[in-house]
Amino acid sequence: MDDLRVRFAPSPTGVLHIGGARTALFNYLFARHNTGKFILRIEDTDKERSTKESVDAIINGLTWLGLHWDEGPFYQSQRTELYKQHVDQLLKEGKAYRCYCTPEELESKRTKALSEKRKPIYDRTCRERTDHPEGKPYVIRFKSPMYGTTMVKDMVKGNILFNNEELEDFVILRSDGSPTYNFVVVVDDVDMHITHIIRGDDHLNNTPKQIFLYHAFDYPVPQFAHIPLIHGTDKARLSKRHGATSVEAYREEGYLPEALVNYLVRLGWSFGDKEVFTLQEMIDNFSFDNISKSAAVFNPEKLLWLNATYIREKSAEQLLSLLEPFIKARGLMDCLNSLDRSNLLKLIDETKIRSRTLLELLDMMDYYFKTDVVYDEIAAKKLFTQEKAVYLQAMLTRLSGIEDFSQKHIEEAIKSYATESGLKLGDVAQPLRLAVTGRTVSPGLFEIIEILGKERVVKRVFNAIEYMKTNHGQNIG
Ligand code: GLU
Repeated sequence: MDDLRVRFAPSPTGVLHIGGARTALFNYLFARHNTGKFILRIEDTDKERSTKESVDAIINGLTWLGLHWDEGPFYQSQRTELYKQHVDQLLKEGKAYRCYCTPEELESKRTKALSEKRKPIYDRTCRERTDHPEGKPYVIRFKSPMYGTTMVKDMVKGNILFNNEELEDFVILRSDGSPTYNFVVVVDDVDMHITHIIRGDDHLNNTPKQIFLYHAFDYPVPQFAHIPLIHGTDKARLSKRHGATSVEAYREEGYLPEALVNYLVRLGWSFGDKEVFTLQEMIDNFSFDNISKSAAVFNPEKLLWLNATYIREKSAEQLLSLLEPFIKARGLMDCLNSLDRSNLLKLIDETKIRSRTLLELLDMMDYYFKTDVVYDEIAAKKLFTQEKAVYLQAMLTRLSGIEDFSQKHIEEAIKSYATESGLKLGDVAQPLRLAVTGRTVSPGLFEIIEILGKERVVKRVFNAIEYMKTNHGQNIG
């Protein structure tokens, strides 16, 4: 299928939503699987609601996710001439007509139809009209078939039959001269030689009208795939109240694009019980045979789990470069440059196993960047006692005395002190960990102490003893 062509056609009226990103992904995968072309078309005809920020969010979001398009971005706002030509063509061929009914007239027809329990569709008053009242505003309507049925053949939903009598002569050009969504979509799909239309199933009801237009332009009706929407765990359509819904928000929270893409593909698509996919595996296996017919449920826990999986697989070097924007945002770049890089890489390797997002990873290593350790308050109350201060004082002396500040010697120093003093290792290790990291949980203490280096460790143990003095008013001499 060398000439297969699909498009992602977002309206730039807000963030790049998870649902939009999934639609883009399915289009992308389908194109790549079939060596077709993936086109990006920005549907910015609504001047009031379309914004430059939103266009940027779409472009940056897709780029970050790695969903590269082959053609575009095309902007509908720059294609008005093409739409005008197509309106003229339909008028000339008698497939569309000017409708002079005023909004008031239309409203009263509507009310009447409703009171008579009829579907309030336009009654086609102007369909056969031949006069053109000078200066009177008009819209242009498409002459829809009045009888028969229209079949939407959908790769996900199967065949859906629409009754033409229920579809009206819809407006293709408003009285202000702007073309409508159903019209421009078809003009563009025809012009861009689109063969397959993959989009959310909220567009399903537009499809028969669009099919009329493909026929009117003598264009083979594309294949459709209407994908079920995404729901929250409460079965309601995914919205802000379910948490972050934009691609940008996940990026800012420290999700990896591979993890998000992997999560998105599973929102509605499955391949046996496989959960973790490389992009190439998705491309190789993607087809509409495995798309679920019911709404997908967004599960933030599963996304976190996938993200953790991808973080674990990254090397420390890769993670450090991924962390850089976050380090910069926290104003820690100078600090990063002044610290020993190889030690930081070791720390990343030790910490990544416990982190589910890049932000968590950075948070868990905050003691490496900070000059002053901030102690976990509850732990400090429990562990920074008079008795423990004595242990720390002893450790301060022993650690200061180590020449070769390696993990092996650090371990020996701590263990021998515990044994000689008849203490359990934890009695010494826990306050020491709190003193050097501010935390009760960290990678292996001996490794951390080596990574932090003698100077910083000695200073931190000293500071902890000072803290204990001031906070307990105890003379620990
Ligand atoms: N612009 C439409 C939207 O953002 C999509 C149109 C289409 O895919 O046909 O919902």
